[in-house]
Amino acid sequence: MKFTFLGTGTSHGIPMIGCSCEVCTSNNEKNKRRRCSLYVVAGGQHIVFDTPPDFRDQVLSFGVKRVDAVFLTHPHADHIYGFDDIRRFSDLQKTHIPVYGSPETIRQMRIKFDYVDKASHSFGGVPRVTFINQTGPITLGDILITPLPVWHGKDFILGFRIDSNGQRLAYIPDCSAIPKETFPYLENLDVMILDGLRPENHPTHFSTKECIEQLKRIGAKQSFMTHLTHNSEHHKLQIQLGEMITVPWDGLQVVL
Ligand SMILES: [Zn+2]
Ligand SMILES: [Zn+2]
Ligand SMILES: [Zn+2]
Repeated sequence: MKFTFLGTGTSHGIPMIGCSCEVCTSNNEKNKRRRCSLYVVAGGQHIVFDTPPDFRDQVLSFGVKRVDAVFLTHPHADHIYGFDDIRRFSDLQKTHIPVYGSPETIRQMRIKFDYVDKASHSFGGVPRVTFINQTGPITLGDILITPLPVWHGKDFILGFRIDSNGQRLAYIPDCSAIPKETFPYLENLDVMILDGLRPENHPTHFSTKECIEQLKRIGAKQSFMTHLTHNSEHHKLQIQLGEMITVPWDGLQVVL
């Protein structure tokens, strides 16, 4: 299994428009954070988790050459508004690309991208996709993808677990509470990637401290904290987290 952080930032992206703080003006590339997305290549499958507004730039910057399936955690703007660029992959691969999400996410995608489902278009390209409600684990080739229901404020949304060839990764970019029913799916993980928004508490995201507590409880072999704001300078946060938790950066690729 190989995975690439296409984006590690909160909804604004970092630098944030109109901000001159030390992180937003930093020359360190690791402080430049696109909106959250993860690219996983495993068992011959090339999978994107979320298609944020930065998706085209992420694809071009980090060598995403193929997309066999898209999984959407939830329909917030920072996770879906690059979705139209999936059309280059459906054109190149000459196929409809399956797009998975909870029934509520798919319902909202059909409203926000209403042109995708229409049969005829007089001009221009559209993503050729098949929307699929995911209510349980699904198999793609040799890999298994299990939805992980979590709280994101008052919304009940999804993270995902990917099992491939005995390796197991879980990705939960937006989360303020993990229900006890979901914890059993987070056992024996090789990799856990979890929302750790900012030092201060937030109603719809784990804070830095809460994320550390959850990552310790989960106890994956490798842990990463994502969906970060300009309140977290890369180097300083990494020193705070120590060796057990990695602060990822856009373009970081990990091979298991
Ligand atoms: Zn700033
Ligand atoms: Zn969200
Ligand atoms: Zn988000």
